[in-house]
Amino acid sequence: MTHTRFLSLLTAGLLTACSQATPEQQIVNDAAEALGGADRIRAVKTLVAEGDGTQYNLGQDVTPDASGQTFTVIGYRRAIDVAGGRARTEMTRRPNFTFFQGPQPQKLVNGIDGATAYNVAASGAVTRAPAAVATDRGAEFLRHPITAVRAALDPMATVSNAHTMNNQSMVDVTTATGVSFMLAIDPTTKLPTQVITRLDNTNLGDVAVSTSFAEYQDVGGLQLPVRLTTKVDDFTTEEIEVAKQAADAEAGDLAAPAEAQKATPPAPPTVAVEELARGIWYLAGGSHHSVLVEFGDHMTLIEAPQSDARSLAVIARAREVNPKKPLTELVNSHHHFDHSGGIRAAIAEGLTIITHQGNVALFENMAKRAHTVVPDALAKNPKPAMIKGISEDTTLSDGTMTVQLLPYSGPHTETMLVAYFPRERVLVEADVYNPGGQVFMFAAPLLEELKKRNLRIDRIVPLHAKPAPWAQFVKEASLPVPTATN
Ligand SMILES: [Zn+2]
Repeated sequence: MTHTRFLSLLTAGLLTACSQATPEQQIVNDAAEALGGADRIRAVKTLVAEGDGTQYNLGQDVTPDASGQTFTVIGYRRAIDVAGGRARTEMTRRPNFTFFQGPQPQKLVNGIDGATAYNVAASGAVTRAPAAVATDRGAEFLRHPITAVRAALDPMATVSNAHTMNNQSMVDVTTATGVSFMLAIDPTTKLPTQVITRLDNTNLGDVAVSTSFAEYQDVGGLQLPVRLTTKVDDFTTEEIEVAKQAADAEAGDLAAPAEAQKATPPAPPTVAVEELARGIWYLAGGSHHSVLVEFGDHMTLIEAPQSDARSLAVIARAREVNPKKPLTELVNSHHHFDHSGGIRAAIAEGLTIITHQGNVALFENMAKRAHTVVPDALAKNPKPAMIKGISEDTTLSDGTMTVQLLPYSGPHTETMLVAYFPRERVLVEADVYNPGGQVFMFAAPLLEELKKRNLRIDRIVPLHAKPAPWAQFVKEASLPVPTATN
C-alpha cells in the first residue's frame, strides 16, 4: 500500500467516524448498508448467477424502428471475480425469428480479464476481442450492485453530483482506475436500482448503457437482484432472470485464456480491388465488401460497412481507382449496423447517401448524434448530411453506366436496396445470399423476387461473400432450410 493510499484510507475512516458524510457519500453508504454492509461488500470474492432470459436485436431488426426480434436465452451463467476484475458469461441463445445462421441454438462464451476481452467459439477457439469491446465489458463489470458499490466505497474513487432523477437518488462515481458511472438507489429501500455507463457505439455515438436491478433476495448476508435489465439508451437489449445465485462460491478459472493474452492487435483494414466488369470494381475486405461504380464524370460507392476505419479505407481506395473522377455518392444496402457503420464516415467525406426511404430518419439521426466518448471522422470534421431516400425502383444512368436500385422487402430486412446492372447482368446484394455458406435462410425469397421481376442475371455479387454465378445461387436457394427441430 502506498503512503498516499494509506493516508486517504485513514482520512476516509476519520470522515466516517467524526464528521457528517457528504450527500454523495451518504448515497453510497446507504446503498452499502442496504446491500449487507460495507465490510461484507468489501469481503465478497466471487459472485455466480445462473438463470435465463431474453436478448433483443439492436441495430439488426427488420426495420430501424422494430424491436420485436428476440433470442431466448437459456443456461445463462455469469461468474464474477469481484476483486480481480474478471468476469465470464456463458449462455445458449435460440433465435425467435428468421436468423441468418439458422434456427439452431448457439452457445456464446465471453469474458473480460482486466483489459483483455475474449470470446470462446463453440469449437473452443479463443479470440481476443477489440479494445472497444474490452472497454464495454469493463463497464459491464460495474453494472452490478456489488461491484458498483464496492468501487464507489474505494477511498481512491471520487463521488460527486448527488441529485434526484426519476424519483431515484443518483450519484456520479469515478473509480480508482478512472472509469465513470452513475449509481441510482431507491430513496426508500436504499437498494441500487440502476447503474448507468456512458459508452461509444459506432453507429449511435454516445450512448447510456444501463442495467436496472429488481426483486432483491438475501444471498449469504447480501441483497442481490433477481432481475437485471440492460438498455442502450431506451432500447432494451437484455433481460435476465436469475434462478440461482451465490456469493463466494467456486467461480471457476476466470483468467483470460493464454491465446487471448498473447493475441496481437488487429491489423489495419485492407482493400483488395478486383474489376468485375468495365467500370465496376469489387472492393473486398475481411468480412464486408463494397462495390465501386464509374460513371462518365463521377464515381458511386455501394456500401460503407462496419466502422470509420473500414469505410475510410474503402473510400480512399475507391478514389485511387480513378483519381480524375470525384467520388460523390454512397449507396447503402440496408440499415443494419454492420452495413451502416460507415455512413458517418461517408458524410464526413462529403458523399451524398442514397438509401431505402425507410432508413432516412435513422441516418439523419445518426448524423446528428454526439460522438464525444470516441470522436469519429464526422465529429472531428462536421458536415451537413445529404441523404436521399428511395421508395421505388430508381435508375442511375448517364449513358456510360446504368445501375438500377431496387427496394426489396424480405425476411432479413424490409428496408433494403439491391443494385442491378442490366448491361453486365450483375446483381449486388447484402446478407440475403452468401454463396457457399452453411445455411441459406433468405436466398429462396430473393430468388422468387428476382424471378418475379424477370431480371437477367449472370452473376451475384454479395457484400458478405465471394461473387457466384447465377446457377450456384439457384442451386443454393433451392436447398431445404433447416428448422428448429432438426
Ligand atoms: Zn443485414
